[in-house]
Amino acid sequence: MLRISVSVAVGLALAIGCQRGPATAPAASSSQPAVPAPEDRLIRVLLAADKPVFTITTACPAAWVDPATGEVVAEVPTGRSLSVYFTDAGIGTDDLPDAEALDILDLVPRDAKPCTAAWSGQSPERFPGRMRFIRVGPGVGHLVNVVDIEDYLASVVAAELDRRYHLETFRAQAIVARTYAWFRRGTGNPRNLWDVTATESAQVYPGLSRLEQVPLAGRAVRDTYGLVCTWESPDGWRIFCTYYSSACGGSTQSADAIRNGSAIPPLAGNVACPCCEEGHCAWGPLSLTKSFVTSQLHGRYSRLESLGTISRISVRETTESGRPITLTVGNDSDQELSIEAENFRLAIDPTGRRLRSTLFSLVDDDSEVRFEDGRGFGHGVGLCQAGAEIFARRGRTAGEILRHYYPTSRLRRAY
Ligand SMILES: [Zn+2]
Repeated sequence: MLRISVSVAVGLALAIGCQRGPATAPAASSSQPAVPAPEDRLIRVLLAADKPVFTITTACPAAWVDPATGEVVAEVPTGRSLSVYFTDAGIGTDDLPDAEALDILDLVPRDAKPCTAAWSGQSPERFPGRMRFIRVGPGVGHLVNVVDIEDYLASVVAAELDRRYHLETFRAQAIVARTYAWFRRGTGNPRNLWDVTATESAQVYPGLSRLEQVPLAGRAVRDTYGLVCTWESPDGWRIFCTYYSSACGGSTQSADAIRNGSAIPPLAGNVACPCCEEGHCAWGPLSLTKSFVTSQLHGRYSRLESLGTISRISVRETTESGRPITLTVGNDSDQELSIEAENFRLAIDPTGRRLRSTLFSLVDDDSEVRFEDGRGFGHGVGLCQAGAEIFARRGRTAGEILRHYYPTSRLRRAY
């Protein structure tokens, strides 16, 4: 496990540990790195991978910079629209032939105004911070946004919550998203060229348009500036992996269900939640053919291909509250294998919008499998956004809400 030396402005020995997602269960890690120093608040967000060309428009004077040396390669005037592409030897742009030999190149706005970026499948969108182009091969490259983590958070929080939600819900979400981001930054492989993706595999980061539609998000990030969730580990106060989901279904789930290892106390689950009391968390019934289930499972897990057509599906193990943890899938030859319920869910429905949670009753019905009595939306670990909103409207503060969903945790100011 990676461990980073502690260096926190207010002298707190804080450290990180987290993960998230309403639709997907992120990669797991239990390491607990320290919060980086406040003067280094940049996070590297992968905006797009394996694209042939990006179009970038500047809104202020900017500079092409070689990030390896810090050397300014060329200046770019305001309002310039550039195509950035990837050659056999390096990175090319409309007006920068000298960059040919570089595999990584930054476009740095000089007046902190956001650039507009577009690529195939993505309409133009504005992003704060610097834009980093990474050549990964002839004709193919990535775009990474190197951005102040607080600016990044505002867009993330705007993407997560309904704009009509209460300010305290936004504040709770801002703290959780901040803790998660620091965790991911601190636990990634040091050789990685980015810290997080801009998708649900980390936190959705859509750019500035969404933020302008949800002004409470920016306010909540400012109101909670530098606050992170911590727990008292055997080694002292550490930040942890603040998983969160849209709706837990009435009781939160242990982090054990979506990653291996023992959950730390704030992520042990079984926290009572009012999210279903207002009738918003029921889903289904959903019927799927077994041929579709077979296709989806084979597509995601090659180990299941040995079963051939899946003809039997049942719940193998549940939590104390009755939520399936593992399922059994089998064929007509009495061969069977087990699969974690959360992995099954995401293999069947990667969007997470039809098979919304693992909190369901499963009916094996001839050529179909039916999911009934569905409740919740997402993996159900950690903060429940729908429940947080109910608590906020009842007068609970963000701090109280977070102590409820992450038992034994405390808020600490990292910077
Ligand atoms: Zn809930």
